[in-house]
Amino acid sequence: MGNPSVGATGTIVTAIDGLVCTRCGRQYSADEPLDTCGDHDGTDGLLDVTYDDERVAAVLAGDDAVPSNSLWRYEPILPTRGQRVSLGAGGTPLLEAPTLSDALDVRLRLKDEATNPTGSMKDRTSAVMASRGAASADVLACASTGNAAASLAAYAARAGLDCHIFVPTDVPEGKAVQPRIHGAAVTTVDGTYDDAFERCQSRSSAAGWLDCSAAVNPYGLEGLRTVGFEIAEQVAEDPPDWVVVPMGNGCGIAGIWKGLASSFRHGVLDAAPAMLGVQAAGAAPIHERFTGEAGGTTGTDADSIDVGFPHNGDRAIDALRASGGRSVVVDDDEIMAAEAELARREGTYVEPASAATLAGLRQARREGIVSADDDVTLVLTGSGLKDTQSARRLVDGLDADSDE
Ligand SMILES: *Cc1c(COP(=O)(O)O)cnc(C)c1O
Ligand SMILES: [Zn+2]
Repeated sequence: MGNPSVGATGTIVTAIDGLVCTRCGRQYSADEPLDTCGDHDGTDGLLDVTYDDERVAAVLAGDDAVPSNSLWRYEPILPTRGQRVSLGAGGTPLLEAPTLSDALDVRLRLKDEATNPTGSMKDRTSAVMASRGAASADVLACASTGNAAASLAAYAARAGLDCHIFVPTDVPEGKAVQPRIHGAAVTTVDGTYDDAFERCQSRSSAAGWLDCSAAVNPYGLEGLRTVGFEIAEQVAEDPPDWVVVPMGNGCGIAGIWKGLASSFRHGVLDAAPAMLGVQAAGAAPIHERFTGEAGGTTGTDADSIDVGFPHNGDRAIDALRASGGRSVVVDDDEIMAAEAELARREGTYVEPASAATLAGLRQARREGIVSADDDVTLVLTGSGLKDTQSARRLVDGLDADSDE
């Protein structure tokens, strides 16, 4: 039995059932303006959004889908209450990768999230949080390693809201400028992403801002599940064996799996893919917990996955387990080599965190996790154009090599 909440325009009735605590199972109404379950410390009690199953089935079957080549195709099963703050996120291409398929001896496809409005898959989270928050909040805030801030700032500008963001000191230049051009107030926190996260939380609760940081806002992850819905529709009768996702906080892999799992449950996919989660050797806490192997904490140049204390680790691990998936770690040299390979062999210029998927696939082939002829989709999470500095070091090195 659903409890549909009617959007302000009254045109789209969204199919939210409610919220359920991922820790204790306590249920909440979607009308309560809350971030996390009150029965746990800090952000331990993350909330999962649940839906009316029949509506989900009808939208995924195409009957109730909205005609749109964007994530609004799935609007009736997004928690946006009929409000749209839109820059056209979603509807990204699934590219064949024939050259790399041959090189790795697999059937490889690339889900190109770099084509989103601000250049990363974070536009899917921002679109949902801004749409839902626009009616009740004056200020959107978030802590970010870069892409989430750039994206939220763009959506806040679109909605006519103020935006406050908190970034660590070592953000690449392109990502540091992007929120400012959208008019966001940027506080550089002397420390890591984790320090920025705490600062954002305390300032937001003191000032009454809507905190849109990873995981604490339960609605962001719901936007990410549209990546899974789209892959399912794009592969049709030919589902991948593996979907490869870089893991920082773990929202991406959890959301994409949630979308793929729904698509499988409702018959869009004949088989559910296994998730392959990739972390950098210097920031591998989810891999450590999932496998029990020790990993490093030295950090990584792949800034979008440089997260020491992931905020959605539990749900990332759930996604790995439920899908029969695996995780691997790769070092920064392998990541940078993969960035050049994607750019030179397939024409896709992505940031290091995204290139980690190709490096991770290669590692998974070496470990015998992914077999020859397996069907693999990499989620290329963000554009390389925001971080030309790391790419410049890479091409200078490659040019020097080829001169020898
Ligand atoms: C945020 C981000 C990731 C990591 O996603 P999580 O949800 O933190 O695991 C990977 N790549 C890019 C480009 C990102 O912006
Ligand atoms: Zn709880």
